Amino acid sequence: MTSSLDLSGRIALVTGASRGIGYFLAKELAACGAHVVAVARTVGGLEELDDEIKAAGGEATLVPLDLADMAGIDRLGGAIHERWGKLDILYANAGILGVVAPIGHVEAKVFEKVMTINVTSTWRLIRSVDPLLRLSDAGRAVVVSSGAAHSAKAFWAPYAASKAAVEALVRSWANETRNMPLRVNAANPGPTRTAMRAQAMPGEDPETLPHPSEIAAKFLRLASPDLKETGLIFDAPQDRFLTYQMPA
Ligand code: NDP
Repeated sequence: MTSSLDLSGRIALVTGASRGIGYFLAKELAACGAHVVAVARTVGGLEELDDEIKAAGGEATLVPLDLADMAGIDRLGGAIHERWGKLDILYANAGILGVVAPIGHVEAKVFEKVMTINVTSTWRLIRSVDPLLRLSDAGRAVVVSSGAAHSAKAFWAPYAASKAAVEALVRSWANETRNMPLRVNAANPGPTRTAMRAQAMPGEDPETLPHPSEIAAKFLRLASPDLKETGLIFDAPQDRFLTYQMPA
């Protein structure tokens, strides 16, 4: 356990929990006492997570699900409602890179897949669990974004567009719920030593990047019942919240 945060009795849903940042987020949340609902397609990764969580005395429920399955996302919300009657914490973390290529070379099916997994499934998940988060006394929602939403680097167009879109979802949702206990934020991990980063930057030495467990430990504060911020981006490299501002 790397945090003194007490999340006992809290239900936390983490997507993309089979590896990378989501895996370590799930471990951290369970170590703080939350019951983790862990979503991904790769059953082996989820089982490894479950073993680690159980060995540390924690609890998890594994949900093998392809987030392209929108009806499956709806069913997940229904199942959480039936079992616990609420959701306290959401980390919408799963994501894909697609391809790094000039915008005109991106295949339609790749663009659509990036939008489906990064944007549409995130909206569908929000729609599925928003009523459950409102039933929590301190609902906390985090959507994992990327600096790419703002830097809009050359050759990263589909991914950058998808992350800009999820940040817009976060801001609208936060504005809708500002007067409620629910807090909704985006989170930027910054470059992190994961499979996705290796796909994007194959020539880079992964050892120069922070381990996903370090990012997970920083993201944990967004689950705290004491959190005040909403509608912001938590930037892990700077370890602080950033506000959105229109350029002058
Ligand atoms: P990884 O590729 O290591 O992990 C991605 C996770 O998303 C896996 O658990 C994967 O599970 C899950 N996932 C992907 N597609 C689907 C799908 N169709 N259905 C269900 N789950 C899916 O990536 P990271 O840990 O690096 O990325 C986590 C988040 O952080 C992403 O949103 C990413 O955009 C963001 N990010 C990462 C950065 C980095 O440098 N690593 C930098 C900035 C942002 P499975 O394949 O088992 O389904």
